Amino acid sequence: MNDKPKQALQVDLSGQSAIVTGASQGIGRAIALMLAGAGAKVACVARSVEKLTETAEMIRRAGGTAEALACDVTDSQSVQKVVDEVLAKWDKLQILVNNAGVTRDTLIPRMSDEDWDTVINTNLRGTFLFTRAVTRPMMQARYGRVINIASVSGLTGNPGQANYSASKAGVIAMTRTVAKELAGRKITINAVAPGFIETEMTQAMGPAILDEVKKRIPAKRLGQADEIAYGVLFLASEAAAYINGQVLVIDGGLCA
Ligand code: NDP
Repeated sequence: MNDKPKQALQVDLSGQSAIVTGASQGIGRAIALMLAGAGAKVACVARSVEKLTETAEMIRRAGGTAEALACDVTDSQSVQKVVDEVLAKWDKLQILVNNAGVTRDTLIPRMSDEDWDTVINTNLRGTFLFTRAVTRPMMQARYGRVINIASVSGLTGNPGQANYSASKAGVIAMTRTVAKELAGRKITINAVAPGFIETEMTQAMGPAILDEVKKRIPAKRLGQADEIAYGVLFLASEAAAYINGQVLVIDGGLCA
């Protein structure tokens, strides 16, 4: 055994390409910037072209490579088109981060069909569509890293979020299942479950509720988008090759 101290984790994704959904803001933007900072070419996906272009430009200004590809993750054909475009442009696709997500919070008696469908379609169907679309090229390459952004709500449930919690629990179950299906092809699929992170999604809860939330978090603060992106970077790295079908909870101790 060599007793030289081990180097701190440094991730080199140069030569790899990635798709990050929901990259127009918040956690997805932080993930896109982080993967690009490690050298990956990043295809940024969301519906709003303007904000997506901003993310891609931030990456390019920092010396990275990025494309902004507008796509609704619930639309099967657009999803396939994004994957085809990335493969045509960069030849290979090693990393997929399914991050796009929405909330439509309300208690179950008041939850409309539309509240239910929108959340399940975006969070769960969107994750399914992109995962299915990258499976073939990753299987052919015998390499792939899929990272799904779930939520602690999918593990513990959260009042007012029957639709959201069900979608994220579904994402976790799909992660575990697909991990078992694809492990033999050197493809790993893991989930990250954030607690409360400072983004537009949590800002929408309002300051009074957020103050109450902070009291419940052992760290006594909301998390930062970068703190989720670090977890994703680790799971995308070589160091995580033997981690598969797992849920990495990043929540300041909320679920401990
Ligand atoms: P934001 O609301 O800030 O961003 C959501 C992103 O998803 C946007 O880029 C949005 O872009 C994109 N998106 C939404 N619907 C679609 C769609 N149909 N097709 C394509 N893109 C879509 O959310 P956060 O950054 O806070 O959350 C990111 C992920 O992290 C989500 O999956 C969320 O559930 C999860 N999460 C967040 C937590 C938090 O505290 N913030 C906690 C736990 C989990 P556009 O509208 O332009 O399409």
